[in-house]
Amino acid sequence: MTAKTGDIDTIDLTRALIRCPSVTPQDAGALDVLQAALERLGFACHRLAFGGADGTDRVDNLYARLGMAAPNFCFAGHTDVVPIGHRDDWAADPFSAEIRDGHVYGRGAADMKGAIAAFVAAVGGFLAARNGTFDGSISLLITGDEEGPAVNGTAKVLDWLHQRGETIDMCLVGEPTNPHRMGEMIKVGRRGSLNGLLTVEGTKGHVAYPEKADNPVPRLIALVSALTAAELDDGSAYFQPSNLEITSIDVGNTASNVIPPRAWARFNIRFNDRHSGASLDRWLRETLDKAADGAAYKLEIEVSGESFYTPPGALSEAVAAAAEDVLGRRPAFGTSGGTSDARFIRKFCPVAEFGLVGETMHKVDERIAIADLEALTRVYRGVLGRLFPETP
Ligand SMILES: [Zn+2]
Repeated sequence: MTAKTGDIDTIDLTRALIRCPSVTPQDAGALDVLQAALERLGFACHRLAFGGADGTDRVDNLYARLGMAAPNFCFAGHTDVVPIGHRDDWAADPFSAEIRDGHVYGRGAADMKGAIAAFVAAVGGFLAARNGTFDGSISLLITGDEEGPAVNGTAKVLDWLHQRGETIDMCLVGEPTNPHRMGEMIKVGRRGSLNGLLTVEGTKGHVAYPEKADNPVPRLIALVSALTAAELDDGSAYFQPSNLEITSIDVGNTASNVIPPRAWARFNIRFNDRHSGASLDRWLRETLDKAADGAAYKLEIEVSGESFYTPPGALSEAVAAAAEDVLGRRPAFGTSGGTSDARFIRKFCPVAEFGLVGETMHKVDERIAIADLEALTRVYRGVLGRLFPETP
């Protein structure tokens, strides 16, 4: 592959991206900024908008590739950001990308416009060092629908790639994986997530005549207690123990003298690789059947992602070695935290995640240290150097 080489500055590109207020599903020009930088380096860019006609928000995505040869190493991420909350809580305009005390401030600085800029700058530096020549391809899969419903983003771009017979051989996701400082963690998997809605029906009535009513509250309490009393597991090699958390219990009753007709509870399970959505569905129904002792209940389940784990291999090893080289510490392999688009990518190729420090992500005054942006650029460049070694 012979490509153009280009001088792209991580800080400038991070700030240009932050200045686009791309709160999901708005793109606000963010992908245009990115595409212009990639085209300067010789990438062939495809804009892929999905949704709109089916009632979902129409969302724009970008797939860019440099080179045709295998292996195709892909960097994945998102340019959309979460809402800012209250503008007045921010010290400065969250979309002005102000620099203060050695930090770039703004929504998306940590999650994850800074990492996207670092990747583009890393490719520019890599190409310059190699005079634009390497064996393989580099691609970027960037969605505008990660913080939202994630239905018109990465999953659909991967389907589009699959349909046109294009293969990704390895993928690095640039989510902020470091809890407090650079070099702490590479994510090699993620826990699964299941949402449950448990409903118990009764018969409404006056509290003075309980014999004429049927109160669903004690039965719901018994069912919820059975769920929280159970221990799902004690963890596995790369995962913390699975956890069931009750998130709400409601009866929708404002009267003190009325027995409510219905009571319901919501819960979420974050589960490791010892379970699947299907096995938890079975376990929940068995546990509830036992506790209900013949009484009726309704359980609705939605699995938003299965747990997954990529065994250590060439990709995670390259990231760990590059991070250790630049940062002086070898990151741990972990699986903690929320879900990410890696849950879609792992069906196609080995995937790992490494990015910035996530401490301020989704918060007021989101920011990232300029030194961290520069370090991440060097780490990504080190990854490219290791995955595409110079041929003697
Ligand atoms: Zn993110």
